[in-house]
Amino acid sequence: PASTTSRSMPASDTLMRRARAVIPGGVNSPVRAFGAVGGTPPFIDAAKGAWLTDVDGNRYVDLICSWGPMILGHAHPLVEQAVQEAARKGFSFGAPSANEVALAEELVARVAPVEQVRLVSSGTEATMSALRLARGATGRDKVVKFAGCYHGHVDALLASAGSGVATFGLPDSAGVPASSAHETIVLPYNDLDAVRQAFAQHGSEIACVITEASPGNMGVVPPTPGFTAGLREITRAHGALLISDEVMTGFRCSAAGWYGLEGEQGGSAPDLFTFGKVMGGGFPAAAFGGRADLMAQLAPEGPVYQAGTLSGNPVATAAGLANLRGCTPEVYARLDVVSHAIADAASEQLTLAGVPHVVQWAGSMFSVFFRGEPVRCYDDAKDQDLAAFSRFFHAMLRQGVHLPPSAFEVWFVSAAHDDEAVNAVIDALPGAARAVTDS
Ligand code: PMP
Repeated sequence: PASTTSRSMPASDTLMRRARAVIPGGVNSPVRAFGAVGGTPPFIDAAKGAWLTDVDGNRYVDLICSWGPMILGHAHPLVEQAVQEAARKGFSFGAPSANEVALAEELVARVAPVEQVRLVSSGTEATMSALRLARGATGRDKVVKFAGCYHGHVDALLASAGSGVATFGLPDSAGVPASSAHETIVLPYNDLDAVRQAFAQHGSEIACVITEASPGNMGVVPPTPGFTAGLREITRAHGALLISDEVMTGFRCSAAGWYGLEGEQGGSAPDLFTFGKVMGGGFPAAAFGGRADLMAQLAPEGPVYQAGTLSGNPVATAAGLANLRGCTPEVYARLDVVSHAIADAASEQLTLAGVPHVVQWAGSMFSVFFRGEPVRCYDDAKDQDLAAFSRFFHAMLRQGVHLPPSAFEVWFVSAAHDDEAVNAVIDALPGAARAVTDS
């Protein structure tokens, strides 16, 4: 169980020193470095169910869950067995294999507008390829994205504009050509007027609108009623495609992802979807898909080129299939119970400590904003007390709870969060809420 003393992490500290010498910032994905909250991240040695064990032997309840994939908990026996069986038969064939077909069938069966998928190895590849397909199919170059939505580190999608007005994106990262960012129009989320205005000006040049199905990368900011349907209507009227990025929400918000909660009400099916995370079960498997006539534009059938040495990898597809098949109605019911127990307790303790906050939801996916007012767009999300979050985060970590190290991230739970794990989180909350105000 979680201890309330400060954790000793000599082995993590040593590894971080070694890592910094050979890996930029010591990490292979920036958010892992604790840049927003300070301090050294624990290096993880092993994970099982809801728990992580670091290289110093400290245990943590995991509320990151590998940023989404581990919906059944870590090292779930069904997934582990599928991986071992697949690995025994070989690691990569570079030729078609049965699990690729089974995984594609599973995705197509779950999300009604998706008739075909192409498997890739990361969410970034999925959105990058969907974008190329949209441009190829429409013969247009411009793309619309929303500030605060993350779609992976694709050049054209790293652009973000700070202000609430329609502007051409400036690169958010060094190394993104201005010409690439110039084709990206960044708009405020949940603002259909801004979308209408952009289409009024540039409608005939816009290949697609890409949006997170329900954004989770600025914290959880669900679409206001009518927003997604409005995007569908506007894109259709202008001959542009609508891409719904379900890399995070897919198979988490429901068995059919966010689409299963919102999309099935008439006529608002996006043209293309992207998936990742849960569908890979913790292995590199992701996908993009949609209507068969659009997907037929891809090589080898059509002119839009896309490929991958490890695409449809037999071990990754076995893991993904087992993970998806493990997502029973009981799993979704448990995610609801766990997320509400944790969110309600967090809210209660923050209220008792007098800390302004708001909890926002997309199905059972939630995040806690350190501000008193609801968040509808990225400008709202940025207006948080980030120092308060850092104090809260470190107090939770000291007590053995592994929260996302940023106030702009989802608190991910799994069906393996049993009562012991949930209670360990609940027990840590009063001290962490008090730590926000004791400075
Ligand atoms: N789209 C969304 C909505 C995501 O949340 C992410 C990853 N957090 C990505 C795309 C990129 O996926 P990956 O990290 O697998 O490249």
